[in-house]
Formats: sequence, structure tokens, C-alpha cells
Amino acid sequence: MTQTRTNLIGLTREELTDAMASIGEKAFRAKQIWHWLYHQGVKNISDMTSLSKSLHAKMEEHFYIGRLEVARHLVSVDGSQKWLFRLEDGNEIESVFIPDEGRGALCISSQVGCSLNCDFCNTGTQRIVRNLTPAEIVGQLMAARDSLNEWPSGVDGRLLTNIVMMGMGEPLMNFDNVKKALTIIKDGEGTAISRRRITLSTAGVVPLIARCGDEIEVDLAVSLHAARDELRDILVPINKKYPLDQLLKACAAYPGARNARRITMEYVMIKDVNDSPEDARLLAKLMRQYKIPAKFNLIPFNPWPGTNYETSSNNAVHKFSRILNDLGFSAPIRQPRGRDIMAACGQLKSDSENQKLKALAAKRKAEHDAAEPLSA
Ligand code: SF4
Repeated sequence: MTQTRTNLIGLTREELTDAMASIGEKAFRAKQIWHWLYHQGVKNISDMTSLSKSLHAKMEEHFYIGRLEVARHLVSVDGSQKWLFRLEDGNEIESVFIPDEGRGALCISSQVGCSLNCDFCNTGTQRIVRNLTPAEIVGQLMAARDSLNEWPSGVDGRLLTNIVMMGMGEPLMNFDNVKKALTIIKDGEGTAISRRRITLSTAGVVPLIARCGDEIEVDLAVSLHAARDELRDILVPINKKYPLDQLLKACAAYPGARNARRITMEYVMIKDVNDSPEDARLLAKLMRQYKIPAKFNLIPFNPWPGTNYETSSNNAVHKFSRILNDLGFSAPIRQPRGRDIMAACGQLKSDSENQKLKALAAKRKAEHDAAEPLSA
């Protein structure tokens, strides 16, 4: 059924105020409703108990609270969790929650599929379908909070403390909606996740990096993965458009970057491709040459069905990390999490599509087997 009403989730404060004005309500109503939506996490307009029943009825004529439908929810033995969400148009996206000591990060998607086709990435094999709306981006956080039972916001000791825009899609290719969604997520009277706890990861959409710092004001991570243009052109093809020199200059100039707020260089470690000691030394040299306050995040490649790449050996990863440490850079190795629930980007959605294809093939075969032969 096509919705003719407006989803209250995903409207900025200004838009919510305008929406209330459109049904003859004053601005303070928007403030109350904001509190119910993003602080209390209510799922129904009728649960906003400080509003009168007649206002509930009036609002329900024009608005609804759109929550994401959970198609699958998997919990790993190591505590990480993954959700596959089905959107109103039937498309599917995923989010991953990774708990750690004293903190927990939710990895949020920004697009259905991705246009950048990074060679090592499972999402890169899924064509770009569309950008997510602000409601669908904020909705991932709200659904995770529902599952973790973390309403109302602002309670001490909550598990979900950080956001990383690092799920499916390139967030800077959906700049306006990501900006709107993060403005909502950061709001201190709502979900209240401070900008210092939000990191946006880009594959290197250079022209929008400065705007990200100025307008979205969150920490930056870069999917670097190679220290040489020839290799990065293959692993992260947007490098052909915006090569390392342009990317690293943009990082050096990133608004707000300094030693206390360093830029994270994500580096997927792929066996015999980018994991040599020379690669590590070259990375350190580049960071110095461009004066980037950087730290590294080394991620052992998480193989997915159909990939030609393999994970670097333990030895190679530790040696790589040590070289960067000796040259003055923090380079922790991210422990693989949620392998039992396929936590790497895009894997659950691909798995779901494979299952659908298998079901379709089985149905066709059954139909074919049952069909009458045309001639005896
Ligand atoms: S790594 Fe990120 S930008 Fe590259 S294809 Fe995957 S989702 Fe897209």
C-alpha cells in the first residue's frame, strides 16, 4: 500500500516544526514530539501520552512513525549483531553492531548497493540501486536501539555509544541525506550521539571531504587500502578519478583534524597484494609527507564467496603493524568479529539474494517438472 501520510522519522527539527504548522499546531508541539520520537523511542503516535487524544487522531490522519522492518536479526557468539532490514520498496540493507569494552559501534549503511565497485568488497558486487532517505538512515539506529532495549536515550551505561558510517554504500555520494540523518542523530535532546562519537568513512570522494568536515562535523575515516596509485586504482577504483595526491591533500586540510582527532586510515590486509613491509613504510612516509594526523586501522580481509583475495597471514599483519608503530603511528589490528554471522559489509544481503535465487530456481524446476509434456 502506498503511504500518503508523512513519516515523522527523518524530518529535521525545522521540517517537523513546519509539519506541525501544516496541521495548525504551534512550534512547541514539535519539541514535544521530537522528545517522544528520539528520546523515548515510541513506535506509535498514541504512545505520546503528553498529547491529547484529539491531537493523536489529527496527527494520525497526516503522519505515521515509520520503523524499519527487520527481515533477519543475527547475534554472533562474540556479541556482535547484524540486522537485515527490508525497506518499504522491498530493497534490503544491513547494519552491524560491534560491542567492545565500555563502548559499542553501530555500522550504518547509506545506500542500497554501491556505485564504487571496490575490488575486495562484497557490496561492490551489488549494483547501486538508490540512496537511502534520512528516515532509513536514522531508522537503522532506532531499530538497533529497539533490539538492545536502549530507550530512553541518555541513560548511563548504554551499549550503543558510537556510529560509523561505514556500512553499504559511499556516504559522501548521498551527502544531503547523510547530513540530515546525522544532524538528527547528534541532536542532544534526541538520540544524543555526540559528533565526537561519529565517524564517516569515505572511499575518497575528494570534492566533498572538506564539506563533510565543515557541515557534518564528524570524524573522518578513509578507505585507503593501498599506498600506490597503480594498486589503489584496482582496489578502490574511484582512485582513478581522485588519485592519492588529491585525496591526501584533502585529508591534510580536513576541518577539525588534529592529533586529538586523527583521521583513521582503514587498511584491509590482503595476502601478497598490499601487505609487504615496503607498503607499511610507504604509508608512513606518505602521512609524514602530507602532514596528516593519522592513525591506521588494520583489517584482516574477511573472505566472501566468489572473491579472489585471501587474508594476510597473522605474521604479515603483525609485522605490518609493528613497522607502522615503530615509525610513530598507531596501527591496531581489528580482530575479526561476527564471522559466524557474516558481519563483513554486504555479506548478509548477498546471502539473502542467493537464498531468494535458489528458492526461485527450485520453484521454476518444480513448475517445469509438473508441466504436461507438449507432445507424447
Ligand atoms: S568498500 Fe565501501 S565504497 Fe567500496 S564498494 Fe564497498 S561499500 Fe562501496
